[in-house]
Amino acid sequence: MRIPLTRPAPPRLSLAIAELQSLEESAIFSNFGPVNTRFEQEMLARFFGGQGACMTVCNATIGLMLAIKEAVGDTAPGRFALMPSFTFAAAAHAALWCGLTPLFCDIDAQNWAADPMAESAMLSRYAEKIAVLVPYATFGYPIDLTHYTKITAQHGVPVVVDAAASLGTFDMRQHGFGSGFSGAVVFSMHATKSFATGEGGLIYSANPDRIARLRAMSNFGFGEPRTATMPGLNAKLSEVGALLGRLRIADYDRIIARRSELLDHYRDALPELDFQARAQGRQAHQFVSALLPPDLSMSRGAIREHLANRAIVTGTYFSPHLLEQPYFKRLCVAGPMPVCDQVSARIISLPLFDMMTHLEVDQVANSLRDVLTIVDREPRGRGLHSTQRAQPAYEALRRAS
Ligand SMILES: *Cc1c(COP(=O)(O)O)cnc(C)c1O
Repeated sequence: MRIPLTRPAPPRLSLAIAELQSLEESAIFSNFGPVNTRFEQEMLARFFGGQGACMTVCNATIGLMLAIKEAVGDTAPGRFALMPSFTFAAAAHAALWCGLTPLFCDIDAQNWAADPMAESAMLSRYAEKIAVLVPYATFGYPIDLTHYTKITAQHGVPVVVDAAASLGTFDMRQHGFGSGFSGAVVFSMHATKSFATGEGGLIYSANPDRIARLRAMSNFGFGEPRTATMPGLNAKLSEVGALLGRLRIADYDRIIARRSELLDHYRDALPELDFQARAQGRQAHQFVSALLPPDLSMSRGAIREHLANRAIVTGTYFSPHLLEQPYFKRLCVAGPMPVCDQVSARIISLPLFDMMTHLEVDQVANSLRDVLTIVDREPRGRGLHSTQRAQPAYEALRRAS
């Protein structure tokens, strides 16, 4: 049987007829209705110990746009949003929609999140031109948020955390990722994330005033009844979307435990790969990210093709990384990124989904091991090896300038 990279399994609305009927009878379909209000309360209790506040949004990309706009206000043109290049296009797009220029920095070799040294180099080099930091909690990894609280205190620069994949990441004290952080933390509930509903997002902050402002912004900037007092757009989640969220909470413990087990199985079964640093506590996982052996990274295309021939679908999140993507390369600014270039060149995303079996993990691991042996024996630059990698993005940029 074909093994997909992800097999989205949002809660089954077809099994929630009673809930749907009562939603219809309420005749409220959006605008922070009763289902949405319950869902937000449950999320705050379940993930953030009931402290601070959270609100839903229609997706995390719009959530990032709102949160960045709220953080920077009506800023002068030509300012930067500092973010790692090893992330999803949504973060850079959100900054651009807010009139900021994404400024990409390098990542840490172990956890693949923004490298604090690279960030501080950028902060000293560009100083007050940096309007906001947008770190990414890479693949659900619990990056150190106290570090960002300090940056805000020292440099006066606000921080918006892209935590798209992090619903379900808990520290040793059972606090969900983001708990207690007073900047905005933005989560996704997209069908491919582990907290899957289809489309949806959640913004958390320890500061309830921030959430109140964001809520008004998400409803056309109406700070007074039907009167815009601040920037706004429509970022509201529908009541049906919120119902999906409530149904997801009900079975999420089982899902997150299952996915962690499968990931541990992968780590044991594939010692030849380098995995992301192991987090303290429990990390949510969207799919399985690992680095191929350095000498085989040039053969990644061939490896993936061999696996596809064995009915195993893989991905390469995030390769190309942002600075390697034409639109961002044209508009954005970047520092040196040797680690990002390497991690991105070696990364492979392996299958993970709620209903995956341990047998299927073995099948992926055994096939991958076979394929690595086959590819290792093939002459380089021939046959399936033909997909050669372009020069690293930063090198290209440096040569062009
Ligand atoms: C999925 C993802 C997003 C966007 O989430 P949506 O809810 O699909 O808009 C943003 N950033 C990262 C890192 C993601 O993985």
